[in-house]
Amino acid sequence: MGDEERAPIRPLPPEMVERIAAGEVIERPASVVRELLENALDAGATSIRVELREGGLRLIRVADDGWGIPPDELELASRPHTTSKVRAFGDLERLRTLGFRGEALPSIAGVADLELASACAGADLAATVALHVGEVVERGVVARPRGTTVAVHDLFAGVPARRALLRRPRIEAAHALQVVRRYALAHPAVRLACVVDGRLALQTPGADLHLVVAAIYGVDAARALLPLGARPVDDATLGGFVSARAFSFPTREHVLIAVNGRPVANRVLAAAAEGGYRPALRKGRHPLVIALLDVEPGALDSNVHPAKAEVLLREERALAAVLREAVHRALGAAPTPLPRGVPAAPFTHFARPLQLRLPAPRRRRGLRIAERGARYGGHYAESADGEMATGEALGALEPLAQFGAALILARSAEGHLYLVDQHRAHERVIFDSLLMRRERLEVPEATPRADGADAAPAYGPGQLLLEPLLVELSPLQAETLTARLEELRAIGLDCQPFGGSVFLVRSLPHVPGAAQDAASQARELVADAAEEGDSWLDDLCRSLACRSAVRRGQALSPEEQRALLLDLAAAAAPALCPHGSPLLVRFSRGALARAFEW
Ligand code: ADP
Ligand code: MG
Repeated sequence: MGDEERAPIRPLPPEMVERIAAGEVIERPASVVRELLENALDAGATSIRVELREGGLRLIRVADDGWGIPPDELELASRPHTTSKVRAFGDLERLRTLGFRGEALPSIAGVADLELASACAGADLAATVALHVGEVVERGVVARPRGTTVAVHDLFAGVPARRALLRRPRIEAAHALQVVRRYALAHPAVRLACVVDGRLALQTPGADLHLVVAAIYGVDAARALLPLGARPVDDATLGGFVSARAFSFPTREHVLIAVNGRPVANRVLAAAAEGGYRPALRKGRHPLVIALLDVEPGALDSNVHPAKAEVLLREERALAAVLREAVHRALGAAPTPLPRGVPAAPFTHFARPLQLRLPAPRRRRGLRIAERGARYGGHYAESADGEMATGEALGALEPLAQFGAALILARSAEGHLYLVDQHRAHERVIFDSLLMRRERLEVPEATPRADGADAAPAYGPGQLLLEPLLVELSPLQAETLTARLEELRAIGLDCQPFGGSVFLVRSLPHVPGAAQDAASQARELVADAAEEGDSWLDDLCRSLACRSAVRRGQALSPEEQRALLLDLAAAAAPALCPHGSPLLVRFSRGALARAFEW
């Protein structure tokens, strides 16, 4: 858009005001961020910086390099129902802008102190205006290059009822950051930065979408992307990316549908995008989808939702079908190579990830042995002769053969016959080793160096990732995970807070003999670690064990069988898998003799 497209700000005629769906626009800091971002984008900005303090409750500042507001219109901008974007109802049919109601700035001014500073092209100075409780309290000029800065101070300070509904600043910041992220993806060409309490939490390069995804989700995610074919559908075009199947999240938060640059909640389209993955996506997992849809403005009604979060699409069903099909086709294609310019090492867009300090490790006494004994008490599965061998230690077993690529046949020193389920046995071995680490709490500690300088921390039992991985969670998950970082480190999962609901994963639990590389499951693992509930750590260890254990159907060499049986003999509860199912059956010599009437 060029400067010439900017029209003066005018009050909407009363009949327009009546027909525009109104609503309370400002619910929380994230709503302010969304409205200010939309204004900056509507003004043709190529670079936008969002700043938050205390979750946005103390300060939200959005600065852009758009075409600005002329000094004589600055005060008008913050009055109700004044806009430069529409004049008459028919304009809504041709709407190309994100805003159109002229309500955002006055709504914000009603619940916070507002400061505007804006300069147009050619002007050296920016006019400023400050409002308190919606009234102008100060006017001035400052030096500022072309563009607009809107600062919102002390949001809801005068509305305690609203403020009471808000969550902690960290969660509010996470919501706001999520908004910035979604607009950054919907507008890849715009450089967007978000600074949370002085720390750069997000910076996109203002390039193609692929690079923006790399900046937001990390290079791993960008590598797992498949392009959505830009196939025109009637008057619409579709572009974007979807993640390869293996790359999934526990929430739908990363399914982004943007229509004409506006991230929208549209169940039909979101379901269609996920439908394209079927049947491959596991239950409860959701993909990363960025579907950028462009339709004729006339085929779209944005005037149906107070926060403009939902839109009506005339060809919704047809678009959904196209989207489903496009996802399906994309998944069949090879991953796109990263475009040139993607940093070889990830996160160069982020500020100094290596300078994050680890919380000081605290040692805690392990208390879990008694508990574990009760839960997985060392009783054996019922053997074929009906005896329960409770509390009996499993001695060394001699492997004889593998049966059906699922069972190991083995003989004990006493001459009993054992059938051992290889998957469950391996699960038990892995689970126990994770449990042991928890009990010993091998929290990494910096090794003192001879020269007295701080050495790099040792990462305990974890397996260091070659490239640290950024994982992004929902605000709630992030809250949950933050309280558990120390316990996770004890099992080798080293996650560090990285601003908002983003975490930097540096190491993963080391699982000896794992069938699958833990790194490929890192995201799922972190999401599991953020599950609510008291038994989360057990659940996490169980699911890690289950995912890493050898499968049934896998041939095992005699050495592998022997190693597994040895490990099993050392396990605390060798007869049950971590889920409580039997993992071995024993036929005693006596039982065999009776069965065969020897
Ligand atoms: P709307 O966006 O629906 O028009 P707003 O209350 O958000 O209503 O903004 C009122 C007007 O102020 C806009 O129509 C626009 O002309 C002007 N404005 C607001 N923010 C900016 C900005 N960042 N850059 C340029 N103009 C802006
Ligand atoms: Mg607006």
